[in-house]
Amino acid sequence: MFFKYPVNDVHIHAFSLETADATLAMVEELGYEKFNMLSGASYLPRWMANNLLCAYIKAKARGKGYAFAAVHYPETGIPSAADMLEQVKLYRSLGFDGIKMMDGKPTMRRRIGVPLDHPDYDPMFSYLEETGFPVLYHVNDPWEFWYWDKMPQWAKAQGKLLCYGAEGYGGYPTFEEIETEAINILKKHPRLKIIFAHFFFTSTDLEKTRHYFDTYPNMSYDITPGWEMFESFAQRYDDWRQFFANYSHRILFGTDTYSGHWRETVGCLRRVMETDEKFVAFEERCKGLDLDAKTLQNIYHHNFYRYLPQEPAPLDIPGLLAYGETLYSRIDALKNEDREVLRQEVQAVSQALSEAGEKIGL
Ligand SMILES: [Zn+2]
Repeated sequence: MFFKYPVNDVHIHAFSLETADATLAMVEELGYEKFNMLSGASYLPRWMANNLLCAYIKAKARGKGYAFAAVHYPETGIPSAADMLEQVKLYRSLGFDGIKMMDGKPTMRRRIGVPLDHPDYDPMFSYLEETGFPVLYHVNDPWEFWYWDKMPQWAKAQGKLLCYGAEGYGGYPTFEEIETEAINILKKHPRLKIIFAHFFFTSTDLEKTRHYFDTYPNMSYDITPGWEMFESFAQRYDDWRQFFANYSHRILFGTDTYSGHWRETVGCLRRVMETDEKFVAFEERCKGLDLDAKTLQNIYHHNFYRYLPQEPAPLDIPGLLAYGETLYSRIDALKNEDREVLRQEVQAVSQALSEAGEKIGL
């Protein structure tokens, strides 16, 4: 096996039918026990078919795969409170295992134009809280992205849109504002089963991170890179190793793959978890955390089941196909997308899901 211990990956994306099979092959090669697909449907209207695609991969994985759906958004702003609540209820009834949110990613936060603790979210969060339906939430981005001269070269290469500070396009809240808004959600919904993606980008402040973990017992982090976090861990190496040992039941393993360079990503991540080697990953200077067996097993494996049941929820394939039919009117309402391309994609993914459903007798 690739890893020292059995592994469940809570954070995987795929964005096309072509990469769906590659994702399944990757999961096999890595020897995962279970894995979780995260839909990006809320982030860009062009990912309209992503809930269906995640369901398709889950169906093909036959009991090994889980999937978190995302709420469909208008091109600007957020859906109405009633729409968000209804969508989340629907996804839960169709056999998704949780909800993926990205409203706190600065580009999306700028586009929606409302704070993350806006009251329109409350009925949805209350429902998620009452039902124990988990949410994996991408909030913020590495702090470097607010300072053009601190950004890594790979990000600079994508242009100034990715810079959230004064040198960029403007209109972004600060890192601190976004973080505070997210924490306010936990104050309003203390029982919400929430996982913040990418270590909530708080790896530069161990004391604050510890304070959050102690104050909000139903919140966890995933350790999906952001490689900048591993540079931060290396700077207070012993303190962070102790933190990982103390809070090992609150950190989940994720890779953010599939991508063309998934072997490098997962390889670096394994190295950072299991060894004490020094190396450079994606321009960040890492030092392996060399985590002990109990800590590793919690992060790699056990914590997945603290948020998710032992087996994935059964998929309602006819229900999913009926939901797929409703996407066409959403596509018709879009102004800035190639609507015909999106229609064809929804059709193709629906077809694939239908065939996968027939194979497994659903
Ligand atoms: Zn992600």
